[in-house]
Amino acid sequence: MTPASHLTTDRVNQETSLRDTAHLIHPSMPDFDEFGDCSLDHLVSRLISGLGEDVTREGLVKTPERVERSLRFLTSGYETSVEEVLNGALFEAEGSEMVVVKSIEFYSLCEHHMLPFFGHAHIAYIPSKKILGLSKFARVVDVFARRMQVQERMTSQIADALVEALEPEGLAVVTEASHLCMMMRGVEKQGSTTRTSAMRGVFKSDARTRQEFLDSLR
Ligand SMILES: [Zn+2]
Repeated sequence: MTPASHLTTDRVNQETSLRDTAHLIHPSMPDFDEFGDCSLDHLVSRLISGLGEDVTREGLVKTPERVERSLRFLTSGYETSVEEVLNGALFEAEGSEMVVVKSIEFYSLCEHHMLPFFGHAHIAYIPSKKILGLSKFARVVDVFARRMQVQERMTSQIADALVEALEPEGLAVVTEASHLCMMMRGVEKQGSTTRTSAMRGVFKSDARTRQEFLDSLR
């Protein structure tokens, strides 16, 4: 194992493989096995034995593989771009009335504990030049929910991506979520939800527009 004091920029540049840099990034990270196997299912298997379980028992034999597939899906937002999701779904705006899409279900992973947080996103916008097919709002939410996240950042990212694509008069996103890292670990009581919002354009500058949206969520 390489002591952390050897961590210099040059050294990191020279040693680019995960196998080598893993020790530099975190001195207490264990060595990979003699075959240098650092595949995700292998790491999950190490995690399970680290928790004191027997990875060879029947119920657990395929678990590392399943966890890998599941995690790849739950973080598939990294592989998806907003551009490809919105491709062909933007249309010319005909009016400038507020559009509200409520209760878009989402599931995300808290980046501090890698435990789920989940709930609903509500999106409103006042079109200027373009409108978006309604089903696409849920797709955009998934692009940012399927990552390791904090709820505040996810909410802002959804808002900023939609503002960039739609160039609206204004746009607002409110998310409400339950966090398993709080619920399961008993820091907060069951049933508590966290609400975050991101207001852009007239939703930020005009209190009445903002209130109209927030009232519609009641
Ligand atoms: Zn957490």
